[in-house]
Amino acid sequence: EAKHQGKSSYALFTPEMTEVSHERLHMESHMRKALELNEFQLVFQPIVETSSGKLMATEALLRWNNPSLGTVMPDRFIPLAEETGLIIPIGEWVIQEACKAAQCWQALTGYDIGIAVNVSPRQFRDPGFTDIVLKALADSHLKPELLELEITERLILDNTIETADILRQLDAAGIRLSVDDFGTGYSALSYLKTYPFDTLKIDRSFIQDVLTDTDDSALVRAIINMAHSLGLTVIAEGVEEEAQTHFLKSEHCDYSQGYFYSRPLPEQEFIHWLENNHRAHP
Ligand code: C2E
Ligand code: MG
Ligand code: MG
Ligand code: MG
Repeated sequence: EAKHQGKSSYALFTPEMTEVSHERLHMESHMRKALELNEFQLVFQPIVETSSGKLMATEALLRWNNPSLGTVMPDRFIPLAEETGLIIPIGEWVIQEACKAAQCWQALTGYDIGIAVNVSPRQFRDPGFTDIVLKALADSHLKPELLELEITERLILDNTIETADILRQLDAAGIRLSVDDFGTGYSALSYLKTYPFDTLKIDRSFIQDVLTDTDDSALVRAIINMAHSLGLTVIAEGVEEEAQTHFLKSEHCDYSQGYFYSRPLPEQEFIHWLENNHRAHP
């Protein structure tokens, strides 16, 4: 019993912790009903060609609108969704909705607009994952090459045979694969030649000070050159200022994404945005 184990045992039950776990339980019970209650929403952030500023693709980002919690951002609920396994049905909903949306824009505008979807480690390791992705493509009739799955280096660090197999299956199906938050995962670079990635997304932290910090500009330049040598496409994340776009243009960074171009937008606003900024070559 705790009370016989000395003073330190009591430290396990501080009022702050009770509060944290209470909030957690509160959020978890709401999250269990959120899909049914239709509380999730996708917003879409344009990814543009750096040289022209024209739309190439979009990243689907998840929002949770709950009457008692308000709009909850992914950094606040994705970790809990991962821990509880709820990320599996939620992630399936995201992939289904994202594919449907992209197919609908294709039909509406005649342009091929790629859609990037974030995949978390727990989701990726679910044995049903590949089937979920293939079913979303079949249900929506979206061309597989318009779907890009974003995976972090954290997931690749867990360098198992299954990881390699799943990436190869997805690649063989024609789906594009990107490394999200590139440069933050403390990963060895060798995975870039063994796994079938198409794209590197340079983490926002490198772009933020690219004009003022010569280490950051050297790193960004090196990442772009390395990626191109390996036949990979590069996207700069978190572009907020015009001067950053000049640097990225001069370094031949293929694509850019960030508040300078657009914040993530609800679907109707995104459609409006794309009608005015469609890519140069449909
Ligand atoms: P991420 O995949 O790296 O997505 C980019 C994040 O940076 C988004 O935050 C986006 O709104 C934000 N961002 C874009 N441009 C700028 C900029 O110029 N400046 C700044 N300061 N931020 C910018 P968001 O939507 O809050 O998402 C945070 C993270 O949550 C995502 O990071 C991703 O890891 C995760 N996430 C979002 N949606 C999903 C999802 O459907 N499934 C999973 N598993 N994870 C998701
Ligand atoms: Mg992402
Ligand atoms: Mg490929
Ligand atoms: Mg990122």
